[in-house]
This record gives sequence, C-alpha cells and structure tokens, in this order.
Amino acid sequence: MGELAEQLRGVVAGPVLEPGDDGFAGEVTGFNLAATHRPEVVVGLTSEADAVAVVQVAASSGSTVHVLATGHGVPDVTGGILVTTSRMTGVSIDGRVARINAGCQWAEVVSAAAPHGLAPITGASDAVGCIGYTLGGGLGPLARTYGFSSDWARGFRVVTASGQAVTASADENADLFWALRGGKGGFGIVTSMDFELVELSTLYGGSVFFDAEYIAPVLTAWAAWTSSLPETANSSAVILRLPPLEFIPAPLRGKTVLSVRFAFVGDPAEGKRLFQPVRDAGPTLIDGVGEMPASDIALIHNDPKEPTPAWDRGLMLTSLSAEFVEAFLDVVGPEREVPLVAVELRHLGGATARDVPGGSAVGGRGGAATMTMIGVPDPSLFEKVLPATVDGVLERLEPFVSAETTVNFAGGFALPGSYQASWPPATFSRLAELRAAYDPDQLFPYGPMP
Ligand SMILES: Cc1cc2nc3c(=O)[nH]c(=O)nc-3n(C[C@H](O)[C@H](O)[C@H](O)COP(=O)(O)OP(=O)(O)OC[C@H]3O[C@@H](n4cnc5c(N)ncnc54)[C@H](O)[C@@H]3O)c2cc1C
Repeated sequence: MGELAEQLRGVVAGPVLEPGDDGFAGEVTGFNLAATHRPEVVVGLTSEADAVAVVQVAASSGSTVHVLATGHGVPDVTGGILVTTSRMTGVSIDGRVARINAGCQWAEVVSAAAPHGLAPITGASDAVGCIGYTLGGGLGPLARTYGFSSDWARGFRVVTASGQAVTASADENADLFWALRGGKGGFGIVTSMDFELVELSTLYGGSVFFDAEYIAPVLTAWAAWTSSLPETANSSAVILRLPPLEFIPAPLRGKTVLSVRFAFVGDPAEGKRLFQPVRDAGPTLIDGVGEMPASDIALIHNDPKEPTPAWDRGLMLTSLSAEFVEAFLDVVGPEREVPLVAVELRHLGGATARDVPGGSAVGGRGGAATMTMIGVPDPSLFEKVLPATVDGVLERLEPFVSAETTVNFAGGFALPGSYQASWPPATFSRLAELRAAYDPDQLFPYGPMP
C-alpha cells in the first residue's frame, strides 16, 4: 500500500482504494464511460469530516484533489486524490429552501420538493449531479423563466484548500459565494448546498417530433416563433439521428427527426395557444406536449441515464436568425451525413440575461441560444473524426457563434479558447484572483485540459 493511501485510511471513514484494489475501477467510473480516471488514490467520501481529512492529507503531502460526483462532466483525472461523493446523498427541506448533500442528483431533490408543491430549477437530465451542475451555472428547460440554476443557490458548505469547512453565502465569505455561483472548479470540495425552490406543481410542456422531410420548414418556423415568446415560455429544438434500436419508440426508430421541446409556466390554455404555431408547422410523428406534473420535467428532454461513452461540444449563438437556420441546415440538416446523434439548439434570453442581486460568476448571460453537438457514442471516433466534423460545422457557422459561452456547455474546454470564453473577461480575471487567494498551491487544479 502506498504512503498516501495509508495516511488517508487512518483518517477517513469512507473507502480508500488504489489502482488494482477490488472496487477501484467501479469507484472511478461515472456516466461517461470514455473518461479514464487514473488517480493515485480514490476516496469515497461519507461526510464533511472525510472531506476535511482528505484536504489536510493532500496539503501536507503536496498532492492534488479532484471531485467525481456522477461523472457527467469531469475531465480525465491523472494522479492525485480523487474523491467521490455518491455516498453523500440526502435532501432536507426547510420552508422554501432545500439543503442538498454533495452526492445528490436532481431526481432526489425533485421527489423531495414535489409533495410541498415546490420544485428546484434543474437541468434537462435529473441524473446530473446538483452540485457540479450548479457550480457551472446550469441552464435547464425553465431557464428563460427562472434563469440559471445558480441564481437559486443560497449557500454552500465547502472545504477549501486551507483544510477547513466554511460557509459561503451572501453573508459569509461573499466572494467565495460569488465564485461558486457559476465559476465551477478550483475552489474546494462542496459538501452541501442550500437551494431555493419555486412554487410549481404543473407545466404545459413536453416534446413533439417531426419527420426528416419537415425539418427545414419546421426549424425555420420554430426559430422565427421563438422571438415572439414571453419569458414564461421555454423551447429547444434538436435534430436527432436515431439508431434502429428496440428501446426507441417505433415511429422514430432508425430515423432522422426534429424534436421541438416546450415548457410553459402558467395557464395551460395559454401554453396551448402559444405552442399552436409549432403544431401548425408540419405533421407530427409523436405529439407529447400537454399539461404535466412539474416533477416530470426530465421527460421533456428524455436524456439517456445509463452510462455511455459520451462526446459533445457546445457553444452559444448570437441569434436564431433565418440566415443562421439556413447555414445550420446546410451543415447538419437531414441531407448531410454527419456522425452526430444530436444537434441541439436551446432558446435563451428572458431571466438568463439578468444577474442576481450582488452578482455571480456565471458566464453566458448575453447568449441568444446554446448549440450542442453530441457525437455518435463510438470512442473510435472521439479523437479525430468528431473533432474534424465539428471544425467543419463551425467553419460555416462562425458568423453566428457568440464570443461568450457558459462552462457547462463548453464540452470540457475542447474548442479553442472555450475556457476563457466561458466567462466575461472581468469575471474570468476575478475568478483567477479568487482561485489564487483560496488555493495558492493549486491543490484543486482547474483549467483547460492539456
Ligand atoms: C446527459 C447530460 C445532460 C446535461 N444537461 C445539462 C443541462 O441541461 N444544463 C446544464 O447546464 N448542463 C448540463 N449538462 C452538463 C453538466 O451540468 C455538467 O457536466 C456538470 O459538471 C455535471 O456535474 P456532475 O456533478 O453530475 O458531474 P461530474 O462529472 O461528477 O463533476 C463535474 C465537475 O463538477 C465539479 N464538482 C462536482 N461535484 C463537486 C463537489 N461536491 N465539489 C466541488 N466540485 C464538484 C468538479 O469540478 C467536477 O469535475 C449535461 C451533461 C450531460 C452529460
């Protein structure tokens, strides 16, 4: 047993595993099966005290600390100590605020909040980890109505490089609180988050699907329609190239289709009226938009939950103009053969454009839409074929790409400049200063992948 593992075993309650130990491979594997984590040691955290002990050992031994929650977005970890948070589940609700432990996924918070007529502002998938997602800002199916998810964070418990657990909120360590609402990594291990819930029981929402021949007219109509929507209406559109597999609904199996998603907060009759132009734009293969419990929000996008090799690139757009749609269809439309299972556009604006009182570090408030390209889940394509595909797409779309993006959509900083572009320049500089102040020896390394 190595010295580092020996020291850790003496001070933490959770498992401490080295490469080759039984359980090591399972402990370092998350949602993205293409990520390969090779830390010196992995520690399964069970409490804040464990997190404190790990950081103290790392500081005294000159090691580094990396955090793995669900593995939806962690870049490859090589060396150092990897801490996993999956054992630290549990949500408690006090009035309108949920205390969310480090290992929680959104599904747990949604279930705990629903009986109170409350809902968290989540991402598209309820299997994403609440903390990692919110540290990056977080844009979900209700973003135009309620803003970035980080706008609803009210406080964090975080173990910083000093080896102490501190509270970061508007009243305590306000600079750290500012940074954790959107600044993402490099500040410590968050052990819990206080998160304000909204009163919300039902939505008018879901998704509709159109066959390949209607993609061009429907997408053109959709993009024009988004400019007329109030902030209570949220929508995204995605071109899906679906494999001929059993689990895919028969009308969609093996086809290239367009899915338009909708989420409206308010009177369902008004939601129905607002959505009518999309229904009128072409015949639907499946129409799954209607009144729904807010706790079913993850069904709107229906993201995969089972671990898979995953590769994606994302960015923000300056507009969803007719010129953009034409160029978009030209490069990723149904006539093109591209190895992308999904190319998604999410309409932004509304509350995403407004900062919170006191400010926060989130990037991308100026973006008109997000665009995400998800590759065919075949790791043999990840190194060359998919990057070359995306380069080709972006060459054509360059006039419409925003100079800013937001970190959760930056795809692991793999597009040139996407690390800096994930925050406005002044925010980027302030984050760098705060990282240097809170973690002068880079115990929690964070930045572009090599
Ligand atoms: C299928 C899918 C759907 C997604 N949908 C959305 C979406 O709708 N909106 C959106 O904004 N993003 C979305 N994302 C991106 C997602 O929010 C990020 O990948 C996020 O980082 C995932 O966090 P995690 O904790 O689940 O994952 P992990 O990969 O385990 O963690 C990612 C990073 O979060 C940080 N982190 C996690 N936990 C802690 C902690 N306790 N303390 C300190 N740092 C921590 C670390 O920096 C870590 O490297 C999606 C990703 C996928 C794969």
